[in-house]
Amino acid sequence: MKVVDIKPFSDPVVGKVLGRPLFRDAINSMGDIVVWTFTEILTDEGITGITPYRISPEMLALLKPAVVGEDPLNIQRIWDQMYWRCFNVGRKGLPIIAMSHIDIGLWDIIGKKLKTPVYKLLGGFRDRVPGYGSGGGISLSQEELVTEQMSYVAEGFKAVKMKLGRRDPREDIERVKAVRAAIGPDIDLMVDANNGWSVNNAMRMAKRLERFDVRWLEEPVVAEDYEGYAQVKASTEIPIAGGESEYTKYGFKELFHRDCIDVCQADVGKVGGITEYMKIAAMAEAYNLPMCPHGRGIVSAHCVAATPNGMIVEFFDANRYTNTTIRTFQEETGRRFMPHSIRPIKGWIDLPTVPGLGFDPDLEAVEAYRRKYGTITAEVARRTSRPVNHNLYLSL
Ligand SMILES: [Mg+2]
Repeated sequence: MKVVDIKPFSDPVVGKVLGRPLFRDAINSMGDIVVWTFTEILTDEGITGITPYRISPEMLALLKPAVVGEDPLNIQRIWDQMYWRCFNVGRKGLPIIAMSHIDIGLWDIIGKKLKTPVYKLLGGFRDRVPGYGSGGGISLSQEELVTEQMSYVAEGFKAVKMKLGRRDPREDIERVKAVRAAIGPDIDLMVDANNGWSVNNAMRMAKRLERFDVRWLEEPVVAEDYEGYAQVKASTEIPIAGGESEYTKYGFKELFHRDCIDVCQADVGKVGGITEYMKIAAMAEAYNLPMCPHGRGIVSAHCVAATPNGMIVEFFDANRYTNTTIRTFQEETGRRFMPHSIRPIKGWIDLPTVPGLGFDPDLEAVEAYRRKYGTITAEVARRTSRPVNHNLYLSL
């Protein structure tokens, strides 16, 4: 079997303008346009791998020669070839993100070829994994925040996460207090500062958060400040989580041996794909650290199910009950486009039994929708340079 092409299915597929930024945390504003994109990896045997992400044309041109003509079963060699093409372009950021997405699609092909779900190919450890409800943007009012977090609890999730990083830290504390009071003592509550604090501020905030039984404090300081991470970790009883802004095994080596984190949040769509994620998970296991991957719900579920130290999967459904536009759009298109998508039930995900990653979109339905609304999307894309949110439904 050989890869013959890698190409975007259609870009953008459909879009929707929301009227206000979908989501804000301490450093990111996620824009107000939602689109669907997929990238297909085609083989000479008619097996197609789907990676549910967009790959920029420049990165695709860079990486294609490392993949086309290769047998996807030689995944380690392909990974190595892709990495060396990235080496002088960027060993963090966009090139590694692009190769991550290709690697994910290649694993989909391997699973389909061997007629096995990916998590079993990786060495299945469990068939179902717990998820946590993630969201709690700092742009929400306190009332919206509590409503959103409680909606996850009502669905059966046993853990929820909210963002910190309001301009006035006293508001952060008030918001945590309100959420803890609403969810009660039996639900895990995680908080995420998204790189937003100085070391001193992070240590002060950690001290003030201890009384709320916080399950973990995520990305307290900027990702590059390994010393700062270690200082914050040593100062508090709250476990420190990090890694969603880190790349490849080389980056995680720093986080681990400098004693920066208690919870490893490698992002399979950033670190170098499933191939590299599994190596990072093994390194984390040697440091006795759990893996709680960042986002990418469906792909992350396979990774968590395949590793002894896999703990929980993040399900992110921004502004789920406060922005009905996005909710309606996701429901409407998601059900139609992703009939096989993995859905958490009472906070748990049963891994798919079908070959590959198990989320093949209905591309005919996507195309039909695009024919109907595609021109509106193109016009919107031309009119604005605002950030775009891709495939939000996939993280459910
Ligand atoms: Mg985070």
